[in-house]
Amino acid sequence: MGVLAVYGVQNASALLYYGLHNLQHRGQEGGGIASFDEDGKSHRFRGLGLLNEVFANGEIDHLPGRLAIGCVKYANASRGGLDNVGPVLFRHRTGDFAVASDGNLVNSRQIADYLEKRGTIFQTDTDSELLAHLIKKNANEDRIVNIIKALNMMEGGFSFVILTKKRIYACRDKYGIKPLCIGRLGDGYVVSSESCAFGIMGAEFLRDVRPGEIVCLDDKGIRSNLYSKFFRHRMCAMEYIYFARPDSDIDGCNVHAYREEAGRRLYRECPVEADIVVGVPESSLSAAMGYSAESGIPYEMGLIKHKYVGRTFIQPLQSMREHGVKMKLSPVYSIVRGKRIVLVDDSIVRGTTSLKIVRMLREAGATEVHVRIASPMMKYTCHYGVDTSTPEELLCSHRTLEEACAAIGADSLGYLSPESTRDSCFGCADPCQACFTGEYPTLLYDDDPTNND
Ligand code: SF4
Repeated sequence: MGVLAVYGVQNASALLYYGLHNLQHRGQEGGGIASFDEDGKSHRFRGLGLLNEVFANGEIDHLPGRLAIGCVKYANASRGGLDNVGPVLFRHRTGDFAVASDGNLVNSRQIADYLEKRGTIFQTDTDSELLAHLIKKNANEDRIVNIIKALNMMEGGFSFVILTKKRIYACRDKYGIKPLCIGRLGDGYVVSSESCAFGIMGAEFLRDVRPGEIVCLDDKGIRSNLYSKFFRHRMCAMEYIYFARPDSDIDGCNVHAYREEAGRRLYRECPVEADIVVGVPESSLSAAMGYSAESGIPYEMGLIKHKYVGRTFIQPLQSMREHGVKMKLSPVYSIVRGKRIVLVDDSIVRGTTSLKIVRMLREAGATEVHVRIASPMMKYTCHYGVDTSTPEELLCSHRTLEEACAAIGADSLGYLSPESTRDSCFGCADPCQACFTGEYPTLLYDDDPTNND
């Protein structure tokens, strides 16, 4: 998921719409935008599908005002449907407000129980709604105090943007798992999950939101509060490895530079003799370039990605994912025929995509296919909003390296170590790698509702 906010700019929604397109890779199930007009009236439009489908009929023209928030949502089996597409808009006697979020709380069930016992009835399954109710359960006159109290009840990896008629609040979890950054746009500001949204909006990168920070944007400029004295910096390694766009800088580290460095380290840790290096488009191309540069094996475009087909990883059903691979990639026959190939990919989740690509390259005439993965073996579920599915579905949760290699049909298989995954990152000394190591940066909670009493 991705969030974006614009404060203090004419036609904020229209500008935000363009910026949100640059976050489309973070979610394709749906998206929406909420705004407040000059009279303090709230507006919101959201829908299922890609942004150009959601806003196909001029809906942006009905979202006036100088401040707006928006988001894109990726498919999540347990939280699907239009109701769960943000921003979520709330009516309240003290004034309407809207919330959009990225990430996932690990104690959402406990918070929902707490609120339901106090009379709350939920309209959605979103963390945004939990935050909204917690804010309004706190009776302090000062809204920032209520937000601080609410965030202190929340555990997990998240970012929130909150829109009121006069200001925008942007909040990042105290572990710094989810990315969030601020840009300047004329006299106004932009907040985004990734800095790649800034260019198209004409915004200039200012800084990252700090772990545990609440940034308030209003006519007084930028103000900052830390909601917790406890904070860590455990940025999600998968953002660098797979999720984020290569032109984004996250916590002082460019994503392309990270991947290239990971590719270089991957060759040093898992060398192999081959004729060409081929990257799986598109998130693996930077790592493949790094592998090629370090090894001296020429980089070739052995696979072509068809545009306009969604990312296989974030489609909701396995059947759709498998169909999607064939629609998405084609081998370049004249390049791969008769070659020993090093196939560099960013990660393997279930292994079904890798199996199909290896098979595709062999059918196209490759004599050997050696798979090199620019991240460690994924063995554990992510609890922070990256849909890595259940442990049983993960290729490596119950297989040795040799078994995993056989399962994807490769001649050899090699993974980057957790140490090199960490050391490839120039901006975060200790990123979260829990899906590889099982060491989660937050507390985890029992999610079984029958264990409540
Ligand atoms: S568990 Fe993996 S995907 Fe989830 S936040 Fe940590 S590194 Fe990212």
